[in-house]
Amino acid sequence: MMSRKDAAARLALTEPVEDYLKAIYELETRHGVAATSDVATALAVAPASVTGMIRRLAMHGYLDHVPYRGVQLTDDGRRAALRTIRRHRILESYLTSVLGYPWDRVHDEAERLEHAASDELIERLAVALGHPTQDPHGAPIPTVDGTVDERPHRTLADLAIGERARMVQVSDKNPQLLRYLAEIALQPGTAVTMIAKAPFGGPLTLRIGTADAMVGPSLAEQVRVEPVTDARTVPPRARKSTTG
Ligand SMILES: [Zn+2]
Repeated sequence: MMSRKDAAARLALTEPVEDYLKAIYELETRHGVAATSDVATALAVAPASVTGMIRRLAMHGYLDHVPYRGVQLTDDGRRAALRTIRRHRILESYLTSVLGYPWDRVHDEAERLEHAASDELIERLAVALGHPTQDPHGAPIPTVDGTVDERPHRTLADLAIGERARMVQVSDKNPQLLRYLAEIALQPGTAVTMIAKAPFGGPLTLRIGTADAMVGPSLAEQVRVEPVTDARTVPPRARKSTTG
């Protein structure tokens, strides 16, 4: 009898297979399990066709069923998903840093190229870029051997008034949002301070560099940040007054 491992090796990583594994990986990162209905929404396909593909992927050892909750990737599935994600993020990095694409226009190009480029091309791009660890949207680039830094981050909306942070990441899937963030000069690595929060879900005022910008809470929830803990960012007098 054919073991699941042999079976996994035999299933061709076609474009739909790669898209499914990537979508399941992303859902699993957020929710721990990928529900079939969420996979259908993420890929904009009918739930019935998702059921068929999921059965095939499970049969070939890429997925395990989690009763009543959905599916989870096996080690083989995770490896295959991270390979596609690495390709996608290296392509996005190359398109922005070398070819001068704006960051709101690289996702669709990378969605197509990630299936077509050879492994050699991807690794040559990585070398040409100096082995980047993040893509233009701040998403971590998995290594060739499939390790990735998926640390959870707080969002801009979680910052308290006066708190300072560094922008880490934003989803690459909404070009309008990306264009707006570019307009207010908020990109991965940018320092940002929460100046004011209007009550009842009103706008938030941010200081970005020397300029102030107002953003809605729904935008702020989509921007991931890392609080700056460096003591130099806290004015000495403010620190003294808090300790009495
Ligand atoms: Zn993308």
